[in-house]
Amino acid sequence: MAASSSRLDITGAAHGARRAAQVLQRLREQPPALWYGGALVKDVTTHPALRGGVHSLAALYDLQWQHAATTLFDSPTTGHKVARSFMMPRTHEELHGITLAMQVWQNHTHGMMGRSPDYISRSITGYAAGAAFLAEANPQFGRNAVRYHEYLREHDLCLTHTLVTPQANRAVGAAQQADPYLAARIKEETDAGLVIRGARMLATLPISDEIMVFPSTVLRSAEEDAPYAFAFSIPNNTPGLRFICRESFDYGRSHFDHPLGSRFEEMDAVVVFDDVLVPWENVLLHRDVNRCNQAYARTGAVVHMTHQVIVKNIAKSEFLLGLAALLTSTIGAEGFQHIHEKLAELWVGLETMKAFLRAAEADAALDEWGVMRPAWNPLDAARNLFPRLYPRMVEIIQQIGASGLVAMPTEADLHGPLVEDIRRYYQAARAEAFDRVPLFRLAWDVALSAFGSRQVLYERFFFGDPVRMAGAVFQGHDRKPYMDMVREFIRRNVTEADETSARPVAQSDHGSA
Ligand SMILES: Cc1cc2nc3c(=O)[nH]c(=O)nc-3n(C[C@H](O)[C@H](O)[C@H](O)COP(=O)(O)OP(=O)(O)OC[C@H]3O[C@@H](n4cnc5c(N)ncnc54)[C@H](O)[C@@H]3O)c2cc1C
Repeated sequence: MAASSSRLDITGAAHGARRAAQVLQRLREQPPALWYGGALVKDVTTHPALRGGVHSLAALYDLQWQHAATTLFDSPTTGHKVARSFMMPRTHEELHGITLAMQVWQNHTHGMMGRSPDYISRSITGYAAGAAFLAEANPQFGRNAVRYHEYLREHDLCLTHTLVTPQANRAVGAAQQADPYLAARIKEETDAGLVIRGARMLATLPISDEIMVFPSTVLRSAEEDAPYAFAFSIPNNTPGLRFICRESFDYGRSHFDHPLGSRFEEMDAVVVFDDVLVPWENVLLHRDVNRCNQAYARTGAVVHMTHQVIVKNIAKSEFLLGLAALLTSTIGAEGFQHIHEKLAELWVGLETMKAFLRAAEADAALDEWGVMRPAWNPLDAARNLFPRLYPRMVEIIQQIGASGLVAMPTEADLHGPLVEDIRRYYQAARAEAFDRVPLFRLAWDVALSAFGSRQVLYERFFFGDPVRMAGAVFQGHDRKPYMDMVREFIRRNVTEADETSARPVAQSDHGSA
């Protein structure tokens, strides 16, 4: 067991918002402990399975400087320009400013890099805002959250996070698995900190600087689950920590052949804690099952994260609407009525997401921590709806693209001896072959490739099991006013029916006598 590095020095050597080169340099100098294909990755910036995503991630940091007026603000402690995604908004204008900043990245990736760093930045900002909630358990935890938020903001670090326990036996909780150390748990506590052993199921974007280990929201028993109840963060190169990556969905092909997968491979990994020492200064919650179950909601972290999610949903919906419309027009399918219906369906989905965002901003209010918190109901509706919308959007791309999604040459074919065949047989009503092929390769990467399939799975599950999210809606939203409304209708209707039946039957009601 070895100690993780200290982060007591918050602002030393920090210079606020980073640029791409600094992101890459840090990943080279402090490489996350990624295992890929049975080997430890020495340099994620050059590894063939990872470098595409890593460079796209880094490019976001240059982009924020290109749009500095929108994406950055003056640090309240150092005066440095820092990322707006770390801002605690106090007004509606500041909240809207965060939306605009997040749109810069999501419009650039078209929502295909859902784990852009602003996702966890919003979460940790929520935790820091609700520091008093953490401090009720232990004043140090509240201070840790505030200090950590400041540390991330001033160093502009990028985080992954992990929440769910390994999928071994879902019939029982973490404490009742055959192996008590399957799910990451507190093995021991020392003066230096917690020692964690076991695993967490998943972390997207392990190609990052640190990991936030969130409380799992499914803890059931206050006593039995206590060793599994914690929140902390540690650097991704902490001794004993390792990420076991899935196979890459970047095939190592050109941007022409693989327009999305070659750029936006975020990677997902199982996280193993091999007796990892977590210093107390990094701990936000400890052995407190009830507080772990409430932390997301009470601090506001879940709302601030969902704010980022809906900005992503809008960018993605716009892109898929544009793609479907372009496919339609390219192959001259705009005369068919079912195509109109499908494009209308995509438009309705997009407008619904935009309306939810607008409502969340318009109905935002200062929360108990004095932070302008977006309204939860529209965001909750959005996070329940989009897991159904996105798979349908992809289905529509398949239904419009049809065999065009597989009758598709590669870049090499375009430069090979059959180029004249390609020119002739891949032309479309409104596109030369050389324009049609890139469009269909993009549609394939959205709707058929491993990258595209993973996007569908991601949208189905990344924010939680849709079944259990629906259960939370069932439990959490008051339906009584609507039930009362229906009861009142029935009461009035019965009363009026009684009056009607009591009425003497008029001759004319029987027609002719
Ligand atoms: C691409 C991708 C990226 C992700 N990235 C992250 C990440 O970065 N960090 C992170 O922490 N998590 C991440 N997740 C995990 C995500 O949070 C989970 O997928 C989600 O919470 C569902 O949990 P599970 O996958 O373990 O499914 P399981 O809980 O194993 O569910 C499997 C099936 O059983 C059903 N089921 C299980 N338990 C119940 C129950 N109690 N009641 C009703 N039905 C039940 C489910 O509905 C589902 O059909 C990611 C997931 C995906 C697919």
